[in-house]
Amino acid sequence: MTEETGRADFMSMTPEELEEFVTTLGEKPYRAGQLFSWMAKGAPIEEMTNLPASFRKKLAEAGEYRLPVIEKKLVSRIDGTIKYLFSLCDGECVESVFMRYEHGTSLCVSSQAGCAMGCRFCASTLNGRVRNLTASEILGQAAAAARDTGERVDGIVMMGIGEPLDNYDNVIRFLRLVSDPRGMGIGLRHISLSTCGLVPRILELAGEGLPVTLSVSLHAPDDETRSALMPVNRRYNVASLLEACRTYFEKTGRRVSFEYTLIAGKNDGREEAGRLASVLKNGMRCPCHVNLILLNEVAETGLSTPDRGRAEEFRRELERRGVNATIRRRLGSDINASCGQLRLQRLAEKNKPAPVS
Ligand code: SAH
Repeated sequence: MTEETGRADFMSMTPEELEEFVTTLGEKPYRAGQLFSWMAKGAPIEEMTNLPASFRKKLAEAGEYRLPVIEKKLVSRIDGTIKYLFSLCDGECVESVFMRYEHGTSLCVSSQAGCAMGCRFCASTLNGRVRNLTASEILGQAAAAARDTGERVDGIVMMGIGEPLDNYDNVIRFLRLVSDPRGMGIGLRHISLSTCGLVPRILELAGEGLPVTLSVSLHAPDDETRSALMPVNRRYNVASLLEACRTYFEKTGRRVSFEYTLIAGKNDGREEAGRLASVLKNGMRCPCHVNLILLNEVAETGLSTPDRGRAEEFRRELERRGVNATIRRRLGSDINASCGQLRLQRLAEKNKPAPVS
């Protein structure tokens, strides 16, 4: 049930829960499967033509089914990447990015409106966290993108706005829904979840039986540098984080990948590359991979990005010390495809005083 309306948020339900729900509406259980597969396509109720009209009417009355609405859509002229700004039922906005690679398509989804983690370089956290997204609001981004593009979403990355492990229950539910073969059927091995490092939740995730790829935002090799960039490090330090990553690998067999955003003069020196290689080798003692990301500059933070040559040097130093690393290709650079910035723009527009006429 949604809190405000008391109506059932049936897109957040598993097929089994849906069976119960449709039964209470006086329908045969098999209708649940039909409904579940329509929702995975992002179809509005009136298009669910194999459901009786009387049932569709009941659904519209008893249920809460509002797919994210496309507020803004930017298409990259360079590589066709699409950035969506979606509005939700209460007017909150979140972003998703649809990317095409040689091996398939991938959608980056948001898990919260805003973020409470306070990372110094990030646009999504500048105004704090407004609320968690429901499972249906996360799933809805994927269904709406599939419907809009007419393409299958082959993979999901949870790297949009929000800290997914700070919205744990809804995110776990989303993972079960989106991977269900009766719906979107996106394999868990094609799903990556990115976290700033909420250690107890990483350990909990390791026990869920959901073999998603864990991406950990490390961004610094030592506690002093990391705490200055990411306040979460004061709660869970680098050593405890790496220990949790190792447990994740041991329990799921999935290689952990690390994100390391290079910020000029803060964490991008050769010395840091050396320290990073040694903490990963000593702390992980298992396969891992480092994704280097050039900082996407956010005016409010005052931080700047190093040049490509410096990033390349950092990568070479890691490789020289036996750590696999790649510099992340930037898709959609002409549409500012990294997350949080469109939402921020929209907030600023809303708060702007009305022009005096
Ligand atoms: N809360 C999750 C997902 C966030 S976004 C997490 O912290 O992992 C995905 C990645 O983008 C994270 O590694 C995040 O630290 C990084 N990121 C955030 N702002 C950035 C920026 N301005 N430039 C480059 N990377 C950024």
